[in-house]
Amino acid sequence: MEITLLQHTSLAVCASAIRTCWQSFDKSDDGGEKDRELIDRVGNKFKHASTLEHLVYTFYIKGISRALLQELARHRMASLSVKSTRYTLKELKAEESYDKKDFKRASKYLVMTDHEKVNEMSIIALENLRVILKEGVSNDKAKYCLPESYKTELTWSINARSLQNFLTLRSSKSALWEIQILARKLYENLPFEHQYLFTCE
Ligand SMILES: Cc1cc2nc3c(=O)[nH]c(=O)nc-3n(C[C@H](O)[C@H](O)[C@H](O)COP(=O)(O)OP(=O)(O)OC[C@H]3O[C@@H](n4cnc5c(N)ncnc54)[C@H](O)[C@@H]3O)c2cc1C
Repeated sequence: MEITLLQHTSLAVCASAIRTCWQSFDKSDDGGEKDRELIDRVGNKFKHASTLEHLVYTFYIKGISRALLQELARHRMASLSVKSTRYTLKELKAEESYDKKDFKRASKYLVMTDHEKVNEMSIIALENLRVILKEGVSNDKAKYCLPESYKTELTWSINARSLQNFLTLRSSKSALWEIQILARKLYENLPFEHQYLFTCE
């Protein structure tokens, strides 16, 4: 899994939005210590959490399974643009056939687990999909036999309030193992000066 932070709002913008309420713009230190303390106090401690919605992050997320994708998509307060299997399945057509032990080659398309038998069955499903595509079945029919482990990628935009909720829920030990990894990587890819607003187990 690879995460890239494509863009983020500066803390100064969020602090300025908060200062709108009191018209205290002259107290700004342009995203410095005073602004950081203000954002934490108003957004977190005073629970005026809507002010945190001014901080928006856009990530490129590559190499997650479709099993993870369906859990990610449950977070309604975020925007997703996902690689379309309807348009991109053809890349598998060009591949040679897979043996169930072809872990390395198949990992281009599949997220592997720490369970060998599961990985083997996943590769068999990938091979079935490849055969179907080779036979000329259209992508929008063939996609119905995709394994959940099939890799995808997306652009994901989320505001700080929703990201707090996401990181709390999905870094927990009770969350799916792969989404726990995603949560940790998203946190690590946040700008260092923003990390203090978030908790990641
Ligand atoms: C450990 C774990 C196990 C799970 N197991 C299952 C499962 O078995 N089956 C299943 O279906 N899902 C499951 N989920 C998914 C879960 O039910 C949520 O859909 C998912 O975590 C998104 O959370 P959210 O609604 O807080 O996020 P978002 O959709 O991003 O919403 C963010 C916040 O906005 C507010 N909000 C959003 N929409 C509404 C609304 N319509 N009304 C009121 N307030 C709203 C809420 O405060 C919410 O917390 C699981 C989640 C976790 C973490």
